Amino acid sequence: MQPLRGTKDILPNEIEIWQKIYTTTKNILNTYSYKEIRTPIIENTELFQRSIGNFTDIVSKEMYSFSDQGKRQITLRPEGTASIARAFIHNKLNTNKSVNRLWYLGPMFRYERPQKGRQRQFHQLGIECIGSNMPLADVEVIKLAVDVLQNLKCEEEYLLELNSIGNIKEREIYKIHLIEYLKRYTNELDNDSKNRIDRNPLRILDSKNLRTQEILQDAPVLKNYLSKTSIEHFEQVCSNLEHLDIKYKINNYLVRGLDYYNYTAFEIKTRTSHQQNTICGGGRYDNLIKQLGGPNTPAVGWAIGLERLIILIQNNLKSKIRRNKIYIAIQHIGANNLLWSIIKILTNYKLEFEIDLSNNNLSKQIKKANQLKAKICFILGENEINNNFVTIKWLNTGTQQTLQLSELTKYIKYLKQYDLTSY
Ligand code: ATP
Ligand code: MG
Repeated sequence: MQPLRGTKDILPNEIEIWQKIYTTTKNILNTYSYKEIRTPIIENTELFQRSIGNFTDIVSKEMYSFSDQGKRQITLRPEGTASIARAFIHNKLNTNKSVNRLWYLGPMFRYERPQKGRQRQFHQLGIECIGSNMPLADVEVIKLAVDVLQNLKCEEEYLLELNSIGNIKEREIYKIHLIEYLKRYTNELDNDSKNRIDRNPLRILDSKNLRTQEILQDAPVLKNYLSKTSIEHFEQVCSNLEHLDIKYKINNYLVRGLDYYNYTAFEIKTRTSHQQNTICGGGRYDNLIKQLGGPNTPAVGWAIGLERLIILIQNNLKSKIRRNKIYIAIQHIGANNLLWSIIKILTNYKLEFEIDLSNNNLSKQIKKANQLKAKICFILGENEINNNFVTIKWLNTGTQQTLQLSELTKYIKYLKQYDLTSY
């Protein structure tokens, strides 16, 4: 049986990278007082319609929706922010804290054409800083995206693109002028853009079609419609980023796909040639929580697509994930006290081990240890078993020594003390 199109198994040899991402980001985010939150994968369809917006790509064509046995309209979450806003309101998270810093990692679902870096079930790591309208919050959030990428050894060149998309009022006026301008060129626009003129004209700004881009060059610019407050907010974000030495490029055409953003919108892109080059998207959403029936609460956040990130970092991380395993080659001759005594010591000291279960001869077993890139091989042949000692072979140098079982604890303490098992 095939897995569903656009879904993938994450196999044991890939899981290390996922675990590494989880622990690395958890440490960074904890330092900045972000707490993990896990919300359900299924939500009422209405949540996404009301937050993301009916005319966006996600809601109009990418959602996995179904009606359950009780005829409720349900959707597999296509992104994290709407669910978190719902959880924030439902659990009244604002009552204990004026600012809630939250992070999440989990699967998201979108019905899209699968291709490199685009799946139907994919994963996002995201953060939300809820409760502050300060530009400083935008900066904290953006800095964390950069910190996460740096700590995960994403050495691929990436660029932060930034824009201010103002507030809803400013955008409404801008939209009228943009539509007026674009309607003069209706026949020359690409089909997608033609369909978007009345429903979601801002999305036309990030069209990849060359003729459409050409037409846009003389179109009204959103920046000119922003109020002093919007511009000041943006300028403060920019000057803080400069102070932090975080490089960015202002992209006047960056609007993001979702309806709920205002003020700051940003994306982190790589220079890869294929179209799926956005690894992180985020921005400020000051009206979302109120719009969903909650208290008026400003917020800002981002989401990183983990499959896209992993494509960039896997080679860097793979070579650095250490193999500290102790392989136990053993001649099988019935009950074996020596083996279990050794394992007790290894588990006490939390050293990773693997017992050879093949019943092959010892030299084949040692070969296997090499293949698995174990650090050390413990050899328990007939002689060792009868005399209660163990032969220890360091696989990278070939050095070999024998130890009485009674000396093993001391030896392992010594290895641990100097961290000799970890290089
Ligand atoms: P795109 O323009 O590539 O469709 P998007 O604007 O729809 O991206 P967002 O909703 O901003 O994406 O989601 C944030 C991040 O999640 C993206 O930058 C990307 O890294 C990742 N992402 C989004 N959709 C998918 C998908 N179908 N498969 C894998 N990753 C995805
Ligand atoms: Mg998309």
